[in-house]
Formats: sequence, C-alpha cells, structure tokens
Amino acid sequence: MAIKGRNKIIIGNWKMCRSADRLAELNAIGAAAQEYAVETVICPPFPLIPMVRLLDRQRLEIGAQDCHHLVEGAHTGSVSPAMLRELGASHVILGHSERRACGETDALVCAKAAAAVRAGLIAIVCVGETADERAAGVTASVIADQVERSVPASARPDELLIAYEPLWAIGSGATPTAAEIADIHSEIRAALRGPLGSRHAATTRIIYGGSVTGANADWLLATPDVDGMLVGSASLTAAAFVPIIAAAGRFAASLEMNGQRAA
Ligand code: PEP
Repeated sequence: MAIKGRNKIIIGNWKMCRSADRLAELNAIGAAAQEYAVETVICPPFPLIPMVRLLDRQRLEIGAQDCHHLVEGAHTGSVSPAMLRELGASHVILGHSERRACGETDALVCAKAAAAVRAGLIAIVCVGETADERAAGVTASVIADQVERSVPASARPDELLIAYEPLWAIGSGATPTAAEIADIHSEIRAALRGPLGSRHAATTRIIYGGSVTGANADWLLATPDVDGMLVGSASLTAAAFVPIIAAAGRFAASLEMNGQRAA
C-alpha cells in the first residue's frame, strides 16, 4: 500500500559535467516530467542553475549539489542556501559520497542540512557504505550511524529526502538486490526515529541511487520503501533519463489502477 505523501521522485545529478551539452537535453526531460506527471529534479552545477530555471518552463524542480552551512561571510568559493533559493533552487544534495571523500563529516552534513531547511530548501541527505564495509558485513551499522549523525532533528518530512547510495554501486553498473535495498531502507527508516521521532520517520522519503538506468528503474521503483531515485550518469541525456521518468510514471499509473494513489 502506498503511503500518502510518499509519491516517487526522480532526481538527476549532473555533477560537473559539460554544461552546453546538458542544456540541450532539458526540453525533452521537462516534457517527459510533464507528460508522466513525475516530480523531477535536476541538479546542475551552480553556474547553470539560473539557465536551467529559465529553460525548464516550470516543468522541473531545480537542485544544487552542495551549500555552505552559514548564511553569509568570508567563505571564499562557497554558496549559501539563501543564495540558492534566490536563484530558484528548491532542493540541495548534501553529503554526496564524492563530497564526503573530500573530508565532509556527518556533523558538517547535518549543519548544512539544517541551514538548507532554514532557508526553505529541501535537503537531500546522502548516506552509503563502501565496498569494504559491505564485505565486512557492517553496512547496517554504518548507515544507521550516518543517518543519526547527518539528519537534523529540526527537519520535517517534506523538508528532507534521504538518498541511500552504496559507494560501490555509484558509476559501477552494479546494484544491490531488491531485497538488500529494501532491508537497508527499512534500517534507515528505523534510524530516522532517532533524530526525527517515529511519526516523521514513517513519512520521510528514502530514495535509492547507484547505477540506476532505464533497464533497472521498474524493479527499483517497485522495491518496498523505495520512494524514488537519485540518478548520476543516466541523467545526463534525455535518451537515458526519460525512460527512468517514464518508469516512475508507469508505477504511479499502476497504483492508481489499484486504487492506491500515493499522494
Ligand atoms: C551518483 O553519483 O549519485 C550516482 C547515483 O551516480 P550513477 O547513477 O552514475 O551511479
């Protein structure tokens, strides 16, 4: 049974990929989001946010890929959550493994998420285990620790998304099995009770990321407790991204046919 408010969301992370090529894809991506009525977010590099806002014709939500945890000040090279809001962003990815690899701690991710929420952004907090942690059988405890330490207690479910992104699955073509993803998402939901309390933990959306493609989108979306997907390389072209948006549209349509509308 679908839970009210937990309709599927599809988020594309364009990372630092070449800009002009990406903008040419926007029209078809926006058209698909509209046609399939799927909540779709594009996260371009900072300088492209205004351009994407201009070109997307209000069919997409715009997200950033990071923000600072302070409102303003002498922080060369940084961008505040309020600045992102002013540019038209509604979401921000925080604690992506590629940023954690540059030294971001859970505490910093938590401070950034709290600042993002205070500024009116939806914080997409990423967690995930390494291949070594998976091999050592400590995935569940690693993820629970990250969730408890990275999620700000002040966030409400509509201000927060948790992205489960196993590091070994990012860009590798490999994914966990459906059963493994369902297990971890349920562990994440249990861990969310710490910072958020049981009521908010039950309704916060948890999305999956790591080698999502049009070929695996249907089973990933049908996996219990998967509320959407964070997509890297397959979000870079409409040819690869539109089938993922279409899969989310099909999933919503199948729920409607069964009288289980998500929201
Ligand atoms: C990512 O980097 O967040 C990601 C999910 O990448 P990919 O889809 O390319 O594995």
